[in-house]
Amino acid sequence: MSGLEDIRARVAAAAAEAGRDPGEITLVAVSKVQPLARVEAVLEAGQRVFGENRVQEAAEKWPGFRERFPDVVLHLIGPLQTNKARQAVELFDVIESVDRPKLARRLAELFEETGRRLPCYIQVNTGEEPQKAGVLPADTDAFVAECRDLGLPLAGLMCIPPVDEEPALHFALLARLAERNGLTGLSMGMSADFERAIAQGATVVRVGSAIFGERGKT
Ligand SMILES: *Cc1c(COP(=O)(O)O)cnc(C)c1O
Repeated sequence: MSGLEDIRARVAAAAAEAGRDPGEITLVAVSKVQPLARVEAVLEAGQRVFGENRVQEAAEKWPGFRERFPDVVLHLIGPLQTNKARQAVELFDVIESVDRPKLARRLAELFEETGRRLPCYIQVNTGEEPQKAGVLPADTDAFVAECRDLGLPLAGLMCIPPVDEEPALHFALLARLAERNGLTGLSMGMSADFERAIAQGATVVRVGSAIFGERGKT
């Protein structure tokens, strides 16, 4: 699987360039919308950490793959409605998109009830875009505190920078917000900018099209 090998090599090179241990960077292969055969090829090439942005799509795709590849780790990287939270807690291993108090409270209840306590990332809307999910930077400290009060296992912060802006400014903002809240996980960087994100401290990069090819083209 040449796309995967190439991206792994680039992650390692970006880590070395930044004087970081590549082992502290998790590559999430974003498999949304990709044909099953492509996802299977990436699984067979040894990749185990995947990201999906929709609960329904993950429910159709992943239970079958998990039977064959039980050590798969699945990240939810898209918006989560509270009425799908239970299904998400059953299907996923990491929730990267905690973005509002109502969802945080629901997840805390479900973790308590099911005993599945999934590592969570708070999504920050660093570009303050009205159409995008995430807490505003100014509200992040209070929301982190609220999630901690609820007992959510917080792994870090996540962002999706605006498409038309220099991502470095957004990565730097996310890193500052995480640091001042004592959080070490930084999920940032996609196909177009994961190397820059690694230079700025990303511990999770979410790469789709650069591994699988463009979505919607087979
Ligand atoms: C689709 C998606 C990605 C991957 O995007 P690529 O540009 O294909 O690498 C990363 N993060 C989120 C939240 C996404 O929805």
